[in-house]
Amino acid sequence: MTITTLAQLAADLDSGKRSSVEITQDYLARIEQSEHNAFISVNQELALIQAKTADQKRASGDRSALLGVPVAQKDIFCIDGMQTTCGSKILENFIAPYTATVVENMQAQGIVSMGKTNMDEFAMGSSNETSYFGDVVNPWSTADKTLVPGGSSGGSAAAVSAQLAPAATGTDTGGSIRQPASFCNLTGIKPSYGRCSRYGMIAFASSLDQAGPMTHTAEDAALLLNTMAGFDAKDSTSLDVPAEDFSRSLNDSIEGLRIGLPKEFFGDGLDSEMATIIETAVKQFESLGATIKEVSLPNSHLALPSYYVIAPAEASSNLSRFDGVRYGHRAEEYSDLIDMYTKTRTEGFGDEVKRRIMIGAYALSSGYYDAYYSQAQKLRRMISNDFTTVFEDCDVIMGPTTPGPAFEAGSRTDDPVSMYLNDIYTIPANLAGLPAGSIPAGFTASGLPAGLHLITPYLQEAKMLNIAHKFQQVTDWHTRTAPSAIGGKA
Ligand code: GLN
Repeated sequence: MTITTLAQLAADLDSGKRSSVEITQDYLARIEQSEHNAFISVNQELALIQAKTADQKRASGDRSALLGVPVAQKDIFCIDGMQTTCGSKILENFIAPYTATVVENMQAQGIVSMGKTNMDEFAMGSSNETSYFGDVVNPWSTADKTLVPGGSSGGSAAAVSAQLAPAATGTDTGGSIRQPASFCNLTGIKPSYGRCSRYGMIAFASSLDQAGPMTHTAEDAALLLNTMAGFDAKDSTSLDVPAEDFSRSLNDSIEGLRIGLPKEFFGDGLDSEMATIIETAVKQFESLGATIKEVSLPNSHLALPSYYVIAPAEASSNLSRFDGVRYGHRAEEYSDLIDMYTKTRTEGFGDEVKRRIMIGAYALSSGYYDAYYSQAQKLRRMISNDFTTVFEDCDVIMGPTTPGPAFEAGSRTDDPVSMYLNDIYTIPANLAGLPAGSIPAGFTASGLPAGLHLITPYLQEAKMLNIAHKFQQVTDWHTRTAPSAIGGKA
């Protein structure tokens, strides 16, 4: 079995070899066969209507690059008329009355949305185990071990890795695109903060949240990002910069590329097999003409503490809207308004979400704000300044995406701190608003994928995709298919 890329599907559609309806039907059949629990909802009818429309548009001359290609959407994006749960019981029966800008942009280019993927509740988690809709099985699980797909975009990662969709959307607040990409052998890109509109994407931590593509290849990530990104007046933090073609420099030479390896990303806590895989991958860049230099991000140990104040603080405020008044779950019996709020939220939210709301509300409370939130913002600035210094003489920072490969389901659910440590390498880029990605870089002795983490200066997604593409041209890690991937015609 081989992977199927967006680029191949687009070529098949272009040559008339297959129609969007045929391709979409094939993927919908695979979703039905799958036992990964990667989707919370699938809308076959809507998907086939979109596919048919795409075929008609193509017949009348529309040549949009991804016209008629089906993808999976993380269930954090509102899509008009579709169930949108964000992995939570509190939104179990919520039908969105409008569509997120990112999805609208994709659909305007003729992309077909097949369904909504499973995710950690309100995107809080690193294993998909906080989802109200059940665990997701990592397609790389072995006969004796059921592994988590990572999170929070675990359903998206499993869907692409199991070949239930050729690509998916994800969101990344502290690592939720890159960590599952690493666990499932995918290319996952978190663009610069503000590249993709947050309108209609259910908010977790507004100053950190960013949508991005999850694909097999860097070439596909560029194609999908082209359709997702763009200024949106409906999001006050959307970047008002000219539209870019993220594919434009995929094939540029990387001769002379200056790679920085932060020593903090290779210290204690990094699995030794992971370290070897990353070192080997980095050496491969040397053979492509890159130079390597050890650098330091001296404040990176402050990233996790800073994030775990800022993200819960913003979440506690964002999640106050889920109160049972206008939409979502409402408790059946209550004595007065306060009792209704309390019962609704107690019933509707899971433990991890409650934990974050309590931490956040505490950090923002009067008398503690300066000690926690203001202090965390200062650390954030220091972390960001470290990157500015390193990028004075480096073009890209590389390291492992995660400290270790995918872990066994249930093995970390009782220990939130060990779960939070999964994001130790990914969080700094969110705090600094920088583009970052994970690409397949090799496998452990037991056959588990390992991701190489790339961080580039602000707005340099095209450069990052160029670096990733060059690597993928001389390696085949990204083409390896997961043991429980489902094959078909596509
Ligand atoms: N795992 C991190 C958390 O739980 C990051 C989640 C995310 O990026 N959405 O906060």
